[in-house]
Amino acid sequence: MSAAFMGVAQAARLLAQGQASSVELTTEFLSRAKAHESLGAFLHLDAHAALEQARAADARRAAGLGSGSQGAVVPGGALNGVPIAHKDIFVTEDAPTTAGSKMLQGYRSPFDATVVARLKAAGAVSLGKLNCDEFAMGSANENSAYFPAKNPWDEGRVPGGSSGGSAVAVAAGLVTGCTGTDTGGSIRQPASFTGITGIKPTYGVCSRYGMIAFASSLDQAGPMARSAEDCALMLTAMAGFDERDSTSAQRPAVDYSAQMLTPREGAPATQPLKGLRIGLPREFFPAALAADVDAAVRAALSELQRLGATLVDVTLPRTELSIPVYYIIAPAEASSNLSRFDGVKFGHRATQYGDLLDMYKKTRAEGFGSEVKRRIMIGAYVLSHGYYDAYYLQAQKLRRMIADDFQACFRQCDVIAGPVAPTVAWKLGQGSDDPVQAYLADIFTLPASLAGLPGMSVPAGFGEGGMPVGLQLIGNYFAEGTLLHTAHALQQATNFHTKTPEGLR
Ligand code: GLN
Repeated sequence: MSAAFMGVAQAARLLAQGQASSVELTTEFLSRAKAHESLGAFLHLDAHAALEQARAADARRAAGLGSGSQGAVVPGGALNGVPIAHKDIFVTEDAPTTAGSKMLQGYRSPFDATVVARLKAAGAVSLGKLNCDEFAMGSANENSAYFPAKNPWDEGRVPGGSSGGSAVAVAAGLVTGCTGTDTGGSIRQPASFTGITGIKPTYGVCSRYGMIAFASSLDQAGPMARSAEDCALMLTAMAGFDERDSTSAQRPAVDYSAQMLTPREGAPATQPLKGLRIGLPREFFPAALAADVDAAVRAALSELQRLGATLVDVTLPRTELSIPVYYIIAPAEASSNLSRFDGVKFGHRATQYGDLLDMYKKTRAEGFGSEVKRRIMIGAYVLSHGYYDAYYLQAQKLRRMIADDFQACFRQCDVIAGPVAPTVAWKLGQGSDDPVQAYLADIFTLPASLAGLPGMSVPAGFGEGGMPVGLQLIGNYFAEGTLLHTAHALQQATNFHTKTPEGLR
């Protein structure tokens, strides 16, 4: 049996039943990752470390069976032996961490990020670290200081970003699933561009401890995988309160797989979404929306209707404002967060310099790429005395209004739906000289980020050039279960999520 394109849930089942060993699966994924190295998914692939973890997982399972574990408890953990990988924005003690930046080339963390530690505790095997835009700033993975990642559906196109390497690894079947982070769309947009499933939970659900900070009031981790079922399984392991993150949500542990499977009250089996009201914000279907994206999204919505959901018109009047608001708040926080990279404590230090100030300047001039520098400058500007009130404070006020607009919608509907991005994945190199153009393409993912709401991208078919299109689902705070349930119902009825790129099988 081939492990290619095997998902998290399927791998976990086969491993738990003893129908495959982790060493077998890990070996196959490693050889696929090696064979498709030119896609640029991995910044660091470590066969030796992965196989060591796989052997340990197989041993745990053997020991678990021997000691008579039974029932729902999977020996070694719910993801025991399942091959995954991490976006290189999570610090890991077993592998270097770069955040896609030259600044952290050769950096090794003395500890694991909480999300990494939790997946490890659930038994998952990590193949290595995945490519991303430098410090997660970007929408195409072209701001990686190392190399761009290529979209497996068309290697001449971008996979989206900033979690581009994560999206490529899943879409090309190099891992069963992986971690990503989303500050303004970085899980949802690359998932949409590569035809995979990704969920950004409510702000506070996954710990930010050990996730290299970009914009702390927005940063959130989440799984990227082949299906809602896979995402639910991973998220259950990843989520939970962490006292080392001051904004971690203090809530009891959640079984997202169980929530995903819980039937809606009164809904018949043929209409599992009966009673679900899906709100369509008119601002998410503007005239400028690409026709192919519009068509795929509307077809998916009709499918949801067929499954029993009702569609209602809603409005998010400040959708357009979310672009300037985000591109003030995120750089402001970034300029502060990135001040720690000064050549003293972390990573790169210039070799030739005069005094201390000169060392700081040369180190930062050499270590950061141009997009990161642009954001540090914008951030420092909007926070500076004299401009703070005009920009940063205004943006904060508007952010609150954007969140209030969502609450008004959720009085009329249970889930909000629309496109993830205005177009399918664009050509490599196409957006690189106009940053504002790239910022504008974030329009549909930024509102939920600013409000701190959970958002998901679910494969909805294909558009121009055979490129995947994602349907975005946005839920109210902590309604991840509703999103996963809706996506799962769609995936039980359609097969967009099972499609894989030609030539990579
Ligand atoms: N594209 C957005 C940006 O460049 C979002 C990135 C992210 O979510 N990390 O900031």
